Amino acid sequence: MNDDTLTMSICRDDILQLFNLEAKRIDSFEIRPTLFNELEIHVKLSRCYQTCPCCHNKTNTVKDYVPKKITHSLLHSKPTYIFYNARRYRCKICGKSFYEENPFTHEKARISALTVYNVIEEFKSPRATFSDVAARYHISTTSVINLFDQHVSVARKTLPRYLCLDENYAFKYDKSNYCFVLVDLLTKDVVDILPSRKKLDLLRYFEAIPLEEREGVELVVSDCWKTYRDVAKKMLPNSKFVVDKYHILADLTKRVDRIRIDVMNENYVKISAKELDALPPDKKAEIIQKKHTYYVLKKFNWLIHTNHKKKKKRENGKIIEYYALDPNNEKKYNYALSKFLNFYDLYDLVYHCDPRLTEAVELKESLVRFYKQSTYKNAKHNLDEVIKEFEESTLPDMRKYASTLKEWKKGIIHSFIPIDSPVPRTATNAIIENRNKLIKDIKRGGNGFRCWPRFRNRILFALNSESTMHLNPIKKEKQQDT
Ligand SMILES: [Zn+2]
Repeated sequence: MNDDTLTMSICRDDILQLFNLEAKRIDSFEIRPTLFNELEIHVKLSRCYQTCPCCHNKTNTVKDYVPKKITHSLLHSKPTYIFYNARRYRCKICGKSFYEENPFTHEKARISALTVYNVIEEFKSPRATFSDVAARYHISTTSVINLFDQHVSVARKTLPRYLCLDENYAFKYDKSNYCFVLVDLLTKDVVDILPSRKKLDLLRYFEAIPLEEREGVELVVSDCWKTYRDVAKKMLPNSKFVVDKYHILADLTKRVDRIRIDVMNENYVKISAKELDALPPDKKAEIIQKKHTYYVLKKFNWLIHTNHKKKKKRENGKIIEYYALDPNNEKKYNYALSKFLNFYDLYDLVYHCDPRLTEAVELKESLVRFYKQSTYKNAKHNLDEVIKEFEESTLPDMRKYASTLKEWKKGIIHSFIPIDSPVPRTATNAIIENRNKLIKDIKRGGNGFRCWPRFRNRILFALNSESTMHLNPIKKEKQQDT
C-alpha cells in the first residue's frame, strides 16, 4: 500500500490520531496535496478557556494569531507540514499574553513532537547516520543533530557485579588516542565510555562514584594492561581482576607465528627450474625440501592455529559434522608437493618441518589444554606446571612468555571463577569485542564526530537496552555537565 491509498482509506478520526488531535479540539482540518509532492495539513484549533501561566486565571480572550509551519514527517515518501495559526490569549487579570497549548510541538519548536520522537528512535540502531535520518524525515542534517543533542543525554549505568574493561580506537579526543569502554558482562550494556584510558583520568572517574557502588563490583575483566589492573585494585576494592583468556592465547599465537615466519623465511630459495636441474642430486633434493617447507608454512600455517573443533559443511543437501584434522578424511592430490594428502597429513608436515616450530606448537597446545581442563580449584597448580614448561623451553621467545604468564598469574587463575549466570560460564571479554564493533559502526556513520558528549550519548543510546530520550528538550547548561 502506498502513502496515497493509505491516506484515502483511513477514516477522518484515524487521520486526526496521526496528528495527535481529537475531534472536539479542532475547528477545521484539511489535507491538501501540493504540486511539489508535499502534503499540507491546515488546521485550526477550537477556542477554549486556557489557564494563564502567570496567575492561573482562566481566560478565553484572544490577543492575536501567529502563523506556524511545523514539519510533521509522518510519511517517508512525502514531506508533510502542519500549517496552523497559533492563537495567543491574553489574561485580563495580569495582562500576560501566551500561546494556546498545541498537541503538535514543544513550545517554539518547528518540528512536531511525533517527528522528534521518531527521529530520535532511529538512533537506537548503531547503523543510523544523521544524514540518512535527515533525508528520511525531510529535515536538515543540522536539525537532526540539534534534536539529538536536545533530547538525548544518557547517564552512566550503575556499576555491575561483573565489569568488562577495554579500549577502542574509534575516537581521538584531546591528546588521547583511545577511548575507554565499560561493559556489563551479563547484560552486555555499555555502562559508560570515557575519552581517555590514562591512569589519572580513570582514577578520577572512579573516585567520583560512591564507594558503596564501587564495592559492589566482584570481577573486573580486561586484557593484559597494567593500568586497568592498578585502577581496579585501588578503586574497586572488592573486585578480583580477571585476564581475558583470549588475549593471553592471542599473545602466544603471535609469538608462535613469529617463529613460523622465521623458519619460513630461512627456507626461501629463489632458483629457476633450469638452475635446479643443473644441480647435483643431493643438492637438488635439499633445495626441493626447502621449497616444500616454504610452501606448507606459507599456505597451510592456519592448521597450527586451528582449534580442533568440529566443523559443519553441506554435502548433497545434508549438513555433516567433521574434523578438519581427521586422518581418515579423503586425500586430494597436491601438485606443489606431488602427493595425495589430507589436512591431517599437511598438519603433520607443518608441525614437523622444524624442531623450533614443533616445540612452539607443543607449548601452545599445552596452554590450550590448561584452559580446557582446569577448574578454579586446580588452576594454580596446573598453571605452575605450564609456566615450568615455558621456562624450560630452548626458544628465547617462549621463555619470555613464561614471564608474561607469571606477571598475570593471579588474573589467569581468576578467569576460572564460575560466574553467577543462568548458563555455567566464566568471565571473558568476548562480548566487548562485539560492542567495539558496533562502536566502530557508529563512528563510521557519524561523518567524523568531533563533539565528545554527542559521540558518547550516541553510543550509550544505541547500545543500552534501557536508555530513553528526554521528551522535552534538555536545557543547554545541563547538557554541558555531562
Ligand atoms: Zn494572568
